[in-house]
Amino acid sequence: MDATLENKRWQDTVIRAEENASYMAGDEDFIDDRKISELLSSRHLPDGARIRDIIQKSRSIQTLLPQEAADLIAVRDPGLWEEIFSAAADIKRAVYDNRVVTFAPLYCSNLCVNNCRYCGFRKDNGAVQRRMLSMDQIRSETEILAGMIGHKRLIAVYGEHPSTGAEYIAESMRTIYGVNIPVRRGSGQIRRVNVNAAPMSVSDYRIVKDAGIGTYQVFQETYHRQTYRNAHPAGTLKADFRWRLYALHRAMEAGIDDVAIGALFGLYDWRFEVMGMLAHARDLERVFGIGPHTVSVPRIEPAVNTTYGQHSKYRVSDDDFMKLIAVLRLSIPYAGLIVTCREQPEMIRRVIPMCTQRDASARIGIGAYSDAAAAQQERKQQFILGDTRSLDEVIRELAAMGYITSFCTAGYRCGRTGKNIMTLLRTGKEGCFCKLNAILTFQEWLEDFASEQTRAIGKEIIDREIQEVRARASTDFTPSIIERLLEYHSRIKNGERDLCF
Ligand code: SAM
Ligand code: SF4
Repeated sequence: MDATLENKRWQDTVIRAEENASYMAGDEDFIDDRKISELLSSRHLPDGARIRDIIQKSRSIQTLLPQEAADLIAVRDPGLWEEIFSAAADIKRAVYDNRVVTFAPLYCSNLCVNNCRYCGFRKDNGAVQRRMLSMDQIRSETEILAGMIGHKRLIAVYGEHPSTGAEYIAESMRTIYGVNIPVRRGSGQIRRVNVNAAPMSVSDYRIVKDAGIGTYQVFQETYHRQTYRNAHPAGTLKADFRWRLYALHRAMEAGIDDVAIGALFGLYDWRFEVMGMLAHARDLERVFGIGPHTVSVPRIEPAVNTTYGQHSKYRVSDDDFMKLIAVLRLSIPYAGLIVTCREQPEMIRRVIPMCTQRDASARIGIGAYSDAAAAQQERKQQFILGDTRSLDEVIRELAAMGYITSFCTAGYRCGRTGKNIMTLLRTGKEGCFCKLNAILTFQEWLEDFASEQTRAIGKEIIDREIQEVRARASTDFTPSIIERLLEYHSRIKNGERDLCF
Protein backbone atom coordinates (compact mmCIF):
# COMPACT_ATOMS: atom_id res chain seq x y z
CA MET A 1 0.00 0.00 0.00
CA ASP A 2 1.14 3.56 -0.69
CA ALA A 3 2.84 4.94 2.48
CA THR A 4 0.66 8.05 2.66
CA LEU A 5 -2.51 6.00 2.41
CA GLU A 6 -1.22 3.55 4.98
CA ASN A 7 -0.37 6.41 7.28
CA LYS A 8 -3.84 7.89 6.83
CA ARG A 9 -5.50 4.52 7.56
CA TRP A 10 -3.43 4.21 10.72
CA GLN A 11 -4.44 7.70 11.85
CA ASP A 12 -8.09 6.75 11.50
CA THR A 13 -7.61 3.99 14.07
CA VAL A 14 -5.84 5.98 16.79
CA ILE A 15 -8.53 8.03 18.47
CA ARG A 16 -11.18 6.07 20.36
CA ALA A 17 -13.40 8.83 21.65
CA GLU A 18 -15.62 6.32 23.49
CA GLU A 19 -12.75 5.67 25.93
CA ASN A 20 -13.18 9.21 27.29
CA ALA A 21 -16.90 8.89 27.86
CA SER A 22 -16.89 7.39 31.33
CA TYR A 23 -14.84 10.31 32.65
CA MET A 24 -17.09 13.02 31.25
CA ALA A 25 -20.34 14.43 32.56
CA GLY A 26 -22.45 13.87 29.45
CA ASP A 27 -20.89 16.12 26.86
CA GLU A 28 -19.01 18.23 29.40
CA ASP A 29 -15.32 17.88 30.15
CA PHE A 30 -13.56 19.39 33.15
CA ILE A 31 -12.36 22.54 31.40
CA ASP A 32 -15.01 25.22 31.50
CA ASP A 33 -13.38 28.14 29.65
CA ARG A 34 -16.06 30.59 30.64
CA LYS A 35 -15.92 29.70 34.30
CA ILE A 36 -12.13 29.96 34.40
CA SER A 37 -12.17 33.36 32.68
CA GLU A 38 -14.91 34.59 35.01
CA LEU A 39 -13.03 33.43 38.08
CA LEU A 40 -9.87 35.16 36.92
CA SER A 41 -11.61 38.42 36.18
CA SER A 42 -13.78 38.46 39.30
CA ARG A 43 -11.00 38.30 41.93
CA HIS A 44 -9.76 41.75 42.83
CA LEU A 45 -6.88 42.50 45.14
CA PRO A 46 -7.47 39.85 47.82
CA ASP A 47 -6.32 41.06 51.23
CA GLY A 48 -3.35 39.71 53.13
CA ALA A 49 -5.47 37.74 55.60
CA ARG A 50 -7.23 35.83 52.84
CA ILE A 51 -3.92 35.03 51.11
CA ARG A 52 -2.37 33.85 54.38
CA ASP A 53 -5.35 31.53 54.96
CA ILE A 54 -4.81 30.04 51.51
CA ILE A 55 -1.10 29.63 52.17
CA GLN A 56 -1.97 27.86 55.42
CA LYS A 57 -4.18 25.43 53.55
CA SER A 58 -1.35 24.65 51.12
CA ARG A 59 1.03 24.13 54.02
CA SER A 60 -1.29 21.37 55.24
CA ILE A 61 -0.78 19.78 51.78
CA GLN A 62 -4.35 20.17 50.61
CA THR A 63 -5.18 20.81 46.98
CA LEU A 64 -6.54 24.33 46.53
CA LEU A 65 -9.97 25.20 45.16
CA PRO A 66 -10.05 27.08 41.84
CA GLN A 67 -11.18 30.30 43.57
CA GLU A 68 -8.23 30.06 45.99
CA ALA A 69 -5.74 29.70 43.14
CA ALA A 70 -7.45 32.61 41.37
CA ASP A 71 -6.97 34.72 44.50
CA LEU A 72 -3.27 33.96 44.58
CA ILE A 73 -3.01 34.90 40.91
CA ALA A 74 -4.81 38.20 41.61
CA VAL A 75 -2.22 39.38 44.17
CA ARG A 76 -0.54 42.66 43.21
CA ASP A 77 1.35 43.54 46.37
CA PRO A 78 5.08 42.61 45.96
CA GLY A 79 5.35 41.94 49.69
CA LEU A 80 2.54 39.37 49.52
CA TRP A 81 4.21 37.74 46.51
CA GLU A 82 7.38 37.38 48.60
CA GLU A 83 5.29 35.55 51.22
CA ILE A 84 3.90 33.28 48.50
CA PHE A 85 7.40 32.49 47.12
CA SER A 86 8.72 31.75 50.55
CA ALA A 87 5.75 29.50 51.42
CA ALA A 88 6.24 27.68 48.08
CA ALA A 89 9.86 26.94 48.98
CA ASP A 90 8.84 25.81 52.49
CA ILE A 91 6.21 23.45 51.07
CA LYS A 92 8.68 21.97 48.62
CA ARG A 93 11.05 21.26 51.52
CA ALA A 94 8.30 19.87 53.76
CA VAL A 95 7.10 17.42 51.11
CA TYR A 96 10.33 16.54 49.30
CA ASP A 97 13.07 17.65 51.64
CA ASN A 98 16.17 19.48 50.55
CA ARG A 99 16.79 17.47 47.41
CA VAL A 100 16.66 17.96 43.69
CA VAL A 101 16.21 14.92 41.46
CA THR A 102 18.02 15.00 38.13
CA PHE A 103 17.28 13.21 34.90
CA ALA A 104 18.02 13.50 31.18
CA PRO A 105 15.78 13.42 28.14
CA LEU A 106 16.38 10.74 25.52
CA TYR A 107 14.84 11.74 22.21
CA CYS A 108 14.16 8.48 20.40
CA SER A 109 12.41 9.70 17.26
CA ASN A 110 11.28 12.92 15.60
CA LEU A 111 8.98 11.33 13.06
CA CYS A 112 5.65 13.02 13.50
CA VAL A 113 2.27 13.10 11.79
CA ASN A 114 1.19 16.28 13.56
CA ASN A 115 1.76 19.87 12.67
CA CYS A 116 1.90 21.71 16.00
CA ARG A 117 2.78 25.19 14.90
CA TYR A 118 5.30 25.86 17.71
CA CYS A 119 7.27 22.61 17.36
CA GLY A 120 10.36 22.00 15.25
CA PHE A 121 9.27 18.38 14.73
CA ARG A 122 6.02 19.29 12.98
CA LYS A 123 5.59 17.25 9.83
CA ASP A 124 5.72 20.19 7.40
CA ASN A 125 9.03 21.45 8.77
CA GLY A 126 11.46 20.57 6.02
CA ALA A 127 14.38 22.12 7.93
CA VAL A 128 14.58 19.21 10.37
CA GLN A 129 16.30 15.93 9.54
CA ARG A 130 14.04 13.00 10.41
CA ARG A 131 15.42 10.17 12.43
CA MET A 132 14.14 7.23 14.40
CA LEU A 133 16.70 5.43 16.55
CA SER A 134 17.22 1.69 16.18
CA MET A 135 17.46 -0.35 19.38
CA ASP A 136 21.26 -0.46 18.97
CA GLN A 137 21.33 3.30 18.78
CA ILE A 138 19.11 3.62 21.84
CA ARG A 139 21.53 1.30 23.64
CA SER A 140 24.48 3.52 22.63
CA GLU A 141 22.69 6.63 23.84
CA THR A 142 21.87 4.96 27.16
CA GLU A 143 25.45 3.78 27.59
CA ILE A 144 26.61 7.38 27.49
CA LEU A 145 23.88 8.60 29.82
CA ALA A 146 24.19 5.80 32.36
CA GLY A 147 27.83 4.83 31.85
CA MET A 148 29.61 8.15 31.42
CA ILE A 149 27.38 10.85 32.87
CA GLY A 150 25.80 8.79 35.60
CA HIS A 151 22.08 9.35 35.13
CA LYS A 152 19.70 6.90 36.77
CA ARG A 153 16.49 8.31 35.30
CA LEU A 154 15.57 9.21 31.77
CA ILE A 155 12.58 10.61 30.06
CA ALA A 156 12.22 8.98 26.66
CA VAL A 157 10.59 11.33 24.14
CA TYR A 158 8.81 10.46 20.90
CA GLY A 159 6.99 12.18 18.06
CA GLU A 160 3.66 10.66 17.06
CA HIS A 161 4.00 8.25 14.17
CA PRO A 162 2.91 4.73 13.17
CA SER A 163 6.56 3.56 13.25
CA THR A 164 6.98 4.66 16.85
CA GLY A 165 3.75 3.51 18.49
CA ALA A 166 3.30 1.62 21.76
CA GLU A 167 5.34 -1.41 20.63
CA TYR A 168 8.34 0.71 19.68
CA ILE A 169 8.06 2.69 22.91
CA ALA A 170 7.91 -0.51 24.96
CA GLU A 171 10.85 -2.04 23.12
CA SER A 172 12.92 1.09 23.57
CA MET A 173 12.17 1.08 27.30
CA ARG A 174 13.27 -2.54 27.60
CA THR A 175 16.44 -1.69 25.70
CA ILE A 176 17.19 1.18 28.07
CA TYR A 177 16.59 -0.95 31.17
CA GLY A 178 18.82 -3.66 29.66
CA VAL A 179 21.95 -1.49 29.73
CA ASN A 180 24.34 -2.36 32.53
CA ILE A 181 27.80 -1.00 32.06
CA PRO A 182 30.85 -1.09 34.34
CA VAL A 183 31.85 2.31 35.69
CA ARG A 184 34.61 3.45 38.12
CA ARG A 185 33.47 1.29 41.01
CA GLY A 186 29.91 0.11 40.41
CA SER A 187 27.83 -0.21 37.28
CA GLY A 188 25.84 2.28 35.24
CA GLN A 189 22.19 1.55 34.62
CA ILE A 190 18.92 3.40 34.22
CA ARG A 191 16.56 2.54 37.03
CA ARG A 192 13.54 4.52 35.92
CA VAL A 193 12.33 5.29 32.40
CA ASN A 194 9.68 7.97 32.20
CA VAL A 195 7.95 8.60 28.90
CA ASN A 196 6.70 11.67 27.07
CA ALA A 197 4.65 10.46 24.13
CA ALA A 198 1.40 11.24 22.39
CA PRO A 199 -1.93 10.13 23.89
CA MET A 200 -2.75 6.45 23.44
CA SER A 201 -5.66 4.10 23.87
CA VAL A 202 -6.06 2.07 27.05
CA SER A 203 -4.81 -1.09 25.34
CA ASP A 204 -1.67 0.66 24.07
CA TYR A 205 -1.03 2.07 27.53
CA ARG A 206 -1.10 -1.49 28.85
CA ILE A 207 1.74 -2.33 26.46
CA VAL A 208 3.96 0.44 27.80
CA LYS A 209 2.92 -0.29 31.37
CA ASP A 210 4.13 -3.89 30.96
CA ALA A 211 7.52 -2.63 29.80
CA GLY A 212 7.96 -0.91 33.17
CA ILE A 213 7.07 2.71 32.47
CA GLY A 214 7.88 5.13 35.29
CA THR A 215 5.91 8.34 34.97
CA TYR A 216 3.89 8.96 31.83
CA GLN A 217 3.91 12.58 30.82
CA VAL A 218 1.69 14.36 28.36
CA PHE A 219 1.34 18.13 28.23
CA GLN A 220 -1.98 19.64 27.28
CA GLU A 221 0.00 22.52 25.73
CA THR A 222 -2.93 24.89 26.28
CA TYR A 223 -6.19 24.42 28.14
CA HIS A 224 -7.75 27.25 26.17
CA ARG A 225 -9.81 25.68 23.39
CA GLN A 226 -9.56 28.46 20.83
CA THR A 227 -5.79 28.71 21.26
CA TYR A 228 -5.58 24.93 21.07
CA ARG A 229 -7.41 25.01 17.76
CA ASN A 230 -5.08 27.69 16.37
CA ALA A 231 -1.91 25.88 17.40
CA HIS A 232 -2.94 22.40 16.25
CA PRO A 233 -4.23 22.41 12.69
CA ALA A 234 -7.53 20.64 12.04
CA GLY A 235 -7.27 17.20 10.47
CA THR A 236 -4.25 16.17 12.57
CA LEU A 237 -4.47 13.72 15.47
CA LYS A 238 -3.34 16.34 17.92
CA ALA A 239 -6.20 18.62 16.94
CA ASP A 240 -8.48 16.48 19.13
CA PHE A 241 -8.47 18.47 22.40
CA ARG A 242 -10.31 15.85 24.41
CA TRP A 243 -8.25 12.87 23.26
CA ARG A 244 -5.36 14.72 24.86
CA LEU A 245 -7.30 16.05 27.84
CA TYR A 246 -8.22 12.54 28.97
CA ALA A 247 -4.92 10.88 28.00
CA LEU A 248 -3.85 10.61 31.62
CA HIS A 249 -7.23 9.27 32.75
CA ARG A 250 -6.91 6.48 30.20
CA ALA A 251 -3.32 5.85 31.27
CA MET A 252 -4.47 5.47 34.87
CA GLU A 253 -7.25 3.16 33.77
CA ALA A 254 -4.53 1.01 32.18
CA GLY A 255 -2.72 0.87 35.53
CA ILE A 256 -0.06 3.54 35.00
CA ASP A 257 -0.37 5.21 38.35
CA ASP A 258 2.23 7.97 38.03
CA VAL A 259 1.12 10.50 35.45
CA ALA A 260 2.35 14.02 34.75
CA ILE A 261 0.67 17.16 33.51
CA GLY A 262 2.06 20.27 31.85
CA ALA A 263 1.25 23.27 29.70
CA LEU A 264 3.40 24.98 27.12
CA PHE A 265 3.58 28.45 28.59
CA GLY A 266 3.41 31.30 26.11
CA LEU A 267 0.62 29.99 23.90
CA TYR A 268 -2.09 31.65 26.01
CA ASP A 269 -2.40 33.64 29.26
CA TRP A 270 -0.36 31.85 31.96
CA ARG A 271 -3.12 32.54 34.50
CA PHE A 272 -5.61 30.53 32.48
CA GLU A 273 -3.14 27.67 32.00
CA VAL A 274 -2.47 27.46 35.74
CA MET A 275 -6.22 27.23 36.36
CA GLY A 276 -6.47 24.54 33.67
CA MET A 277 -3.69 22.52 35.26
CA LEU A 278 -5.37 22.76 38.65
CA ALA A 279 -8.68 21.61 37.12
CA HIS A 280 -6.81 18.69 35.55
CA ALA A 281 -5.23 17.70 38.86
CA ARG A 282 -8.56 17.99 40.66
CA ASP A 283 -10.33 15.83 38.09
CA LEU A 284 -7.68 13.09 38.36
CA GLU A 285 -8.11 13.24 42.14
CA ARG A 286 -11.89 13.07 41.77
CA VAL A 287 -11.82 9.99 39.55
CA PHE A 288 -8.80 8.07 40.84
CA GLY A 289 -8.07 9.54 44.26
CA ILE A 290 -4.59 10.46 42.98
CA GLY A 291 -3.46 13.62 41.31
CA PRO A 292 -0.48 14.17 39.01
CA HIS A 293 2.87 12.87 40.12
CA THR A 294 4.60 15.85 38.55
CA VAL A 295 3.79 19.17 37.00
CA SER A 296 5.88 20.62 34.13
CA VAL A 297 6.13 24.22 33.09
CA PRO A 298 7.91 24.41 29.73
CA ARG A 299 8.08 27.91 28.25
CA ILE A 300 7.94 28.06 24.50
CA GLU A 301 11.40 28.34 22.93
CA PRO A 302 12.51 29.22 19.42
CA ALA A 303 12.87 26.29 17.05
CA VAL A 304 14.37 26.11 13.59
CA ASN A 305 12.09 27.47 10.89
CA THR A 306 9.40 28.10 13.49
CA THR A 307 8.19 31.49 14.52
CA TYR A 308 4.83 30.65 16.07
CA GLY A 309 4.50 32.02 19.58
CA GLN A 310 7.78 33.94 19.45
CA HIS A 311 6.13 37.34 19.29
CA SER A 312 2.97 36.45 21.13
CA LYS A 313 1.61 38.81 23.77
CA TYR A 314 1.32 35.77 26.00
CA ARG A 315 5.05 35.15 26.25
CA VAL A 316 5.77 34.67 29.93
CA SER A 317 8.24 37.09 31.53
CA ASP A 318 10.77 35.81 34.05
CA ASP A 319 8.87 37.43 36.91
CA ASP A 320 5.60 35.86 35.84
CA PHE A 321 7.38 32.52 35.47
CA MET A 322 8.30 32.74 39.17
CA LYS A 323 4.69 33.53 40.00
CA LEU A 324 3.16 30.72 38.00
CA ILE A 325 5.53 28.18 39.56
CA ALA A 326 4.71 29.46 43.04
CA VAL A 327 0.96 29.31 42.42
CA LEU A 328 1.25 25.75 41.08
CA ARG A 329 3.42 24.73 44.04
CA LEU A 330 0.74 26.01 46.43
CA SER A 331 -2.24 24.78 44.40
CA ILE A 332 -1.09 21.16 43.98
CA PRO A 333 1.26 20.99 46.96
CA TYR A 334 1.95 17.25 46.87
CA ALA A 335 3.10 17.19 43.24
CA GLY A 336 6.69 17.22 42.03
CA LEU A 337 7.55 20.27 39.94
CA ILE A 338 9.92 20.04 37.00
CA VAL A 339 11.99 22.80 35.44
CA THR A 340 14.03 21.95 32.34
CA CYS A 341 17.11 22.99 30.40
CA ARG A 342 14.83 25.04 28.15
CA GLU A 343 15.52 27.71 30.79
CA GLN A 344 18.73 29.69 31.25
CA PRO A 345 20.85 28.78 34.30
CA GLU A 346 19.99 32.09 35.99
CA MET A 347 16.26 31.39 35.74
CA ILE A 348 16.70 27.86 37.06
CA ARG A 349 18.62 29.23 40.05
CA ARG A 350 15.68 31.51 40.85
CA VAL A 351 12.98 28.85 40.71
CA ILE A 352 14.82 25.79 42.00
CA PRO A 353 13.83 26.35 45.66
CA MET A 354 10.21 25.66 44.62
CA CYS A 355 11.01 22.75 42.25
CA THR A 356 11.75 19.09 42.84
CA GLN A 357 13.35 17.98 39.59
CA ARG A 358 15.45 19.29 36.77
CA ASP A 359 17.18 17.76 33.79
CA ALA A 360 20.90 18.21 33.24
CA SER A 361 23.44 17.54 30.48
CA ALA A 362 20.43 17.37 28.16
CA ARG A 363 20.80 16.86 24.41
CA ILE A 364 17.68 17.02 22.32
CA GLY A 365 19.07 15.99 18.94
CA ILE A 366 18.03 12.47 17.95
CA GLY A 367 21.10 10.37 18.76
CA ALA A 368 23.02 13.42 19.97
CA TYR A 369 24.61 11.83 23.05
CA SER A 370 26.54 9.17 21.16
CA ASP A 371 26.76 10.49 17.61
CA ALA A 372 28.77 13.61 16.83
CA ALA A 373 26.97 14.21 13.54
CA ALA A 374 23.61 14.16 15.31
CA ALA A 375 24.96 16.57 17.91
CA GLN A 376 25.88 18.93 15.07
CA GLN A 377 22.30 18.85 13.89
CA GLU A 378 21.02 19.72 17.33
CA ARG A 379 20.37 23.36 16.65
CA LYS A 380 17.95 22.21 14.01
CA GLN A 381 15.82 20.26 16.43
CA GLN A 382 12.63 20.67 18.37
CA PHE A 383 13.65 23.83 20.20
CA ILE A 384 16.82 25.49 21.51
CA LEU A 385 18.21 24.73 24.96
CA GLY A 386 18.99 27.42 27.54
CA ASP A 387 21.18 25.41 29.93
CA THR A 388 23.78 23.21 28.25
CA ARG A 389 26.03 22.60 31.28
CA SER A 390 27.20 19.12 32.25
CA LEU A 391 25.58 17.13 35.06
CA ASP A 392 28.80 17.50 37.07
CA GLU A 393 28.66 21.30 36.83
CA VAL A 394 24.96 21.39 37.66
CA ILE A 395 25.43 19.18 40.70
CA ARG A 396 28.33 21.31 41.90
CA GLU A 397 26.20 24.41 41.62
CA LEU A 398 23.28 22.78 43.44
CA ALA A 399 25.63 21.70 46.20
CA ALA A 400 27.02 25.23 46.49
CA MET A 401 23.42 26.41 46.89
CA GLY A 402 22.90 23.86 49.67
CA TYR A 403 20.90 21.23 47.74
CA ILE A 404 21.60 17.55 47.61
CA THR A 405 21.14 15.91 44.23
CA SER A 406 19.15 12.71 44.44
CA PHE A 407 19.33 9.79 42.04
CA CYS A 408 16.76 7.93 44.05
CA THR A 409 14.32 5.70 42.24
CA ALA A 410 13.67 3.51 45.26
CA GLY A 411 10.20 4.79 46.03
CA TYR A 412 8.85 3.39 42.80
CA ARG A 413 10.64 0.13 43.07
CA CYS A 414 9.39 -0.34 46.65
CA GLY A 415 5.79 0.25 45.64
CA ARG A 416 5.67 3.88 46.79
CA THR A 417 3.64 5.00 43.79
CA GLY A 418 0.09 6.08 43.07
CA LYS A 419 -2.17 6.20 46.12
CA ASN A 420 0.50 4.94 48.50
CA ILE A 421 2.80 7.78 47.71
CA MET A 422 0.00 10.37 47.83
CA THR A 423 -0.56 9.59 51.50
CA LEU A 424 3.16 9.65 52.25
CA LEU A 425 3.54 12.97 50.45
CA ARG A 426 0.59 14.59 52.16
CA THR A 427 1.89 13.59 55.59
CA GLY A 428 5.51 14.59 54.92
CA LYS A 429 6.69 10.98 55.41
CA GLU A 430 7.98 10.65 51.84
CA GLY A 431 10.37 13.53 52.59
CA CYS A 432 12.08 11.30 55.20
CA PHE A 433 12.61 8.50 52.66
CA CYS A 434 13.80 11.15 50.18
CA LYS A 435 16.41 12.37 52.62
CA LEU A 436 17.87 8.94 53.35
CA ASN A 437 17.86 7.77 49.75
CA ALA A 438 19.26 11.06 48.48
CA ILE A 439 22.28 10.56 50.75
CA LEU A 440 22.84 7.01 49.52
CA THR A 441 22.33 7.62 45.81
CA PHE A 442 24.34 10.84 45.85
CA GLN A 443 27.22 8.99 47.49
CA GLU A 444 27.02 6.36 44.71
CA TRP A 445 27.21 9.06 42.07
CA LEU A 446 30.11 10.83 43.78
CA GLU A 447 32.03 7.53 43.88
CA ASP A 448 31.33 6.58 40.30
CA PHE A 449 31.14 9.79 38.27
CA ALA A 450 32.06 13.01 40.06
CA SER A 451 35.04 15.20 39.25
CA GLU A 452 37.45 15.85 42.14
CA GLN A 453 36.02 19.30 42.70
CA THR A 454 32.41 18.12 42.78
CA ARG A 455 33.29 15.19 45.01
CA ALA A 456 34.77 17.55 47.60
CA ILE A 457 31.72 19.80 47.82
CA GLY A 458 29.42 16.79 47.57
CA LYS A 459 31.07 15.22 50.59
CA GLU A 460 30.37 18.36 52.62
CA ILE A 461 26.69 18.16 51.69
CA ILE A 462 26.48 14.49 52.64
CA ASP A 463 28.16 15.11 56.01
CA ARG A 464 25.71 17.92 56.69
CA GLU A 465 22.70 15.77 55.68
CA ILE A 466 23.80 12.92 57.93
CA GLN A 467 24.17 15.36 60.80
CA GLU A 468 20.66 16.59 60.14
CA VAL A 469 19.27 13.06 60.20
CA ARG A 470 20.97 12.54 63.54
CA ALA A 471 19.56 15.80 64.85
CA ARG A 472 16.06 14.64 63.95
CA ALA A 473 16.49 11.38 65.86
CA SER A 474 13.76 12.15 68.36
CA THR A 475 11.19 13.22 65.77
CA ASP A 476 11.59 11.64 62.33
CA PHE A 477 14.25 8.91 62.37
CA THR A 478 14.50 5.99 64.81
CA PRO A 479 17.93 4.89 66.10
CA SER A 480 17.73 1.71 64.04
CA ILE A 481 17.08 3.69 60.85
CA ILE A 482 20.04 5.94 61.56
CA GLU A 483 22.19 2.91 62.20
CA ARG A 484 21.06 1.36 58.93
CA LEU A 485 21.75 4.61 57.06
CA LEU A 486 25.30 4.73 58.36
CA GLU A 487 25.85 1.08 57.56
CA TYR A 488 24.53 1.46 53.99
CA HIS A 489 26.55 4.61 53.52
CA SER A 490 29.81 2.93 54.41
CA ARG A 491 28.96 -0.15 52.30
CA ILE A 492 28.40 2.15 49.31
CA LYS A 493 31.75 3.82 49.90
CA ASN A 494 33.20 0.30 49.85
CA GLY A 495 31.74 -0.41 46.42
CA GLU A 496 28.26 -1.88 47.04
CA ARG A 497 25.41 -0.32 45.06
CA ASP A 498 21.63 0.08 45.05
CA LEU A 499 21.05 0.02 48.80
CA CYS A 500 17.97 1.98 49.72
CA PHE A 501 15.04 2.58 52.07
N1 SAM B 1 4.90 14.26 20.49
C1 SAM B 1 4.48 14.12 21.83
C2 SAM B 1 3.43 15.15 22.17
O1 SAM B 1 3.30 16.11 21.46
O2 SAM B 1 2.79 14.92 23.18
C3 SAM B 1 5.57 14.23 22.84
C4 SAM B 1 6.85 14.81 22.48
S1 SAM B 1 6.91 16.55 22.35
C5 SAM B 1 8.45 16.42 21.58
C6 SAM B 1 7.15 17.05 24.04
C7 SAM B 1 6.75 18.43 24.41
O3 SAM B 1 7.67 19.38 23.90
C8 SAM B 1 5.45 18.92 23.88
O4 SAM B 1 4.38 18.40 24.62
C9 SAM B 1 5.58 20.43 23.99
O5 SAM B 1 5.01 20.91 25.19
C10 SAM B 1 7.07 20.66 24.03
N2 SAM B 1 7.50 21.55 22.95
C11 SAM B 1 7.19 21.48 21.65
N3 SAM B 1 7.69 22.53 20.97
C12 SAM B 1 8.32 23.32 21.88
C13 SAM B 1 9.02 24.56 21.79
N4 SAM B 1 9.16 25.22 20.66
N5 SAM B 1 9.53 25.07 22.94
C14 SAM B 1 9.40 24.43 24.11
N6 SAM B 1 8.77 23.24 24.24
C15 SAM B 1 8.21 22.70 23.14
FE1 SF4 C 1 4.80 16.18 16.95
FE2 SF4 C 1 4.72 16.42 19.64
FE3 SF4 C 1 6.07 18.20 18.11
FE4 SF4 C 1 3.45 18.19 18.04
S1 SF4 C 1 4.71 18.64 19.87
S2 SF4 C 1 4.79 18.28 16.25
S3 SF4 C 1 2.99 16.05 18.27
S4 SF4 C 1 6.52 16.05 18.37
